[in-house]
Amino acid sequence: MLLLSLEMPSVFTFTNTLGQKHDISFINSDVASGRRLNSNDKYSRHGLLGIPRPDLDSSSAPFREACAASDSIKNMPRPSDINPHTGKPYKVMVIGGGLAGLSTAKHLVDAGHQPILVEARSLLGGKVAAWRDDDGDVTETGLHVFFGAYPNAMKLFRDLNIENRLQWKDHAMIFAKPGSKKREFSTFDFPLWAPAPLNAGIAILSNTDLLSWPEKIKLGLGLIPAYLFGQSYVESQEGVTVKEWMRARGVPDRVTDEVFIAMSKALNFIDPDTLSMQCVLIALNRFLQETDGSKIAFLDGSPTERLCEPLKEYITERGGVVRTNSPLKRILVNDDATKSVSGVLLQGGEIMTADYYISAMPVDAVKKLTPDEWRNKPYFKKMMGLKGVPVINIHIWFDRKLSTVDNLIFSRSKLLSVYADMSEACDEYKSSDKSMLEMVFAPAKGWIGKSDEEIFEATMKELETLFPEEIRADGSLAKVVKYSMVKTPLSVYETLPGCEAMRPGQISPVPNFFMAGDFTKQKYLASMEGAILSGQLAAKAVADTILSRETMQNWTEPDRLEEKPFDKNFHDANDRTADKQLYMVKVGSIDDVKILA
Ligand SMILES: Cc1cc2nc3c(=O)[nH]c(=O)nc-3n(C[C@H](O)[C@H](O)[C@H](O)COP(=O)(O)OP(=O)(O)OC[C@H]3O[C@@H](n4cnc5c(N)ncnc54)[C@H](O)[C@@H]3O)c2cc1C
Repeated sequence: MLLLSLEMPSVFTFTNTLGQKHDISFINSDVASGRRLNSNDKYSRHGLLGIPRPDLDSSSAPFREACAASDSIKNMPRPSDINPHTGKPYKVMVIGGGLAGLSTAKHLVDAGHQPILVEARSLLGGKVAAWRDDDGDVTETGLHVFFGAYPNAMKLFRDLNIENRLQWKDHAMIFAKPGSKKREFSTFDFPLWAPAPLNAGIAILSNTDLLSWPEKIKLGLGLIPAYLFGQSYVESQEGVTVKEWMRARGVPDRVTDEVFIAMSKALNFIDPDTLSMQCVLIALNRFLQETDGSKIAFLDGSPTERLCEPLKEYITERGGVVRTNSPLKRILVNDDATKSVSGVLLQGGEIMTADYYISAMPVDAVKKLTPDEWRNKPYFKKMMGLKGVPVINIHIWFDRKLSTVDNLIFSRSKLLSVYADMSEACDEYKSSDKSMLEMVFAPAKGWIGKSDEEIFEATMKELETLFPEEIRADGSLAKVVKYSMVKTPLSVYETLPGCEAMRPGQISPVPNFFMAGDFTKQKYLASMEGAILSGQLAAKAVADTILSRETMQNWTEPDRLEEKPFDKNFHDANDRTADKQLYMVKVGSIDDVKILA
């Protein structure tokens, strides 16, 4: 039950159901945030100082827990320099240089190990990878935003000393109204003075043009258990789609159509009649529990340069190795009862061995590379049901400034999911006289195989409905300077009802093989936060295992193959994945291994 007690005219003390007390003072939220309001647009540029970083140290218990968990890895007992069972220095191999792999390697060096990370592409970042065109403009694999409810990501930024690279936005969820005569938005404003869940309640109640009062009440009642019972309730809601969940609670379909289509497309690039409600509840639950949970931040530039490079530096400065252009082609297995990893085949006929192997590849890559000997183990068998969902990310550079805002917009249109004017939202892409719209095109199932031209044309038609006074599909208003797009046929795993049980934990049944990746089990979604947390969990699991096995008398090290160096004459030695191309796994043949043996 919520308890509100009036202490003085402008201050409330609010006690939430977790017994946490919050003082609420009624001050003008815009003044408090340092935000300068533009008379034409409430959400246009903020003041020179920008929006301050939310004070997560005091407002977010999950952030404090994430800091403690991450720091505890730094404080773990140091492993011996030499593996007592082999007499050689420990070698931990991390496969995949997306956020999960980089986070794994970062936490391994924190635990005193020297990981060797191999990434297939020339670029680090995986699904956050970004590259420059000949003009120096950046194309990103996806339009990415961080949330206040990303405690492990926030801690990572702190450890890398790059917290100032996050550009926080006004605390609001902004929905476009396609088809209006003018470019219009409907907003859910989270007041600065109210703690969670009051701020979310006020945001929902004060929005008057998307949902009616009876609809809000029905939805609010449906969400009460999520607030009261938190994660356990969220987990119990596995197995139903968003649409089914809403209908079962008498929430009219209009609510799904007005708000949850947009939210489902933003969360998992699919519609609410297929998305698992658990996915939406995970996000809403964090937003209801944490005052700054739904506050959005953009990175200030290319994720590869502004986030992955500092991660690489952190790892290499502490003795780790990060190698690009090094795709893993095959996992090789010992022919004994343990079926442990005996080594891995990399491009160029290289055979590498290690004490421990941590896959941080996406699920579709791991599925292809899972050795036959493991496929019947329930851990791997279940995972085979997960599958990446297609999505397209589009950038359009215009010859003029559009009347957009400095925040993420839920497009609420048929083809697009979310978009942002990056010339407003991101320092590196800033322009005072030209807009660059970055957009997520989803669901993309029927589109992923179409040509760039067809997708561009369809996007322009859609933009006409979002910017009726500024954009015409025939280019007669704002002129398109150029565009670029990235098609990801298999992106994050499709979060369908029932798929939660298929997500593997970080510890596999194979004694020297572990897994990280956004699809592995952790309490966040297939997201940057999930990827970062999975890496931390995998690194911790390996570090714990190493410490415990050091003292085990009866531990037998798995056999290892003889290592082979990269051979520039090997048939695949010169295969390259172009910067702009996502890596598609090519499984190395067993004949290659026989030749090398
Ligand atoms: C369009 C789009 C928008 C998104 N927006 C958001 C957002 O706003 N907020 C958010 O939190 N999340 C967002 N995400 C999700 C987020 O990007 C992912 O959840 C996260 O980046 C996944 O990280 P990962 O390390 O688990 O996997 P990946 O990023 O896929 O990394 C895996 C790495 O493994 C490498 N690899 C694959 N095979 C091999 C091999 N054989 N050998 C060596 N390396 C290999 C790959 O090249 C890749 O670098 C978005 C994703 C997309 C596609």
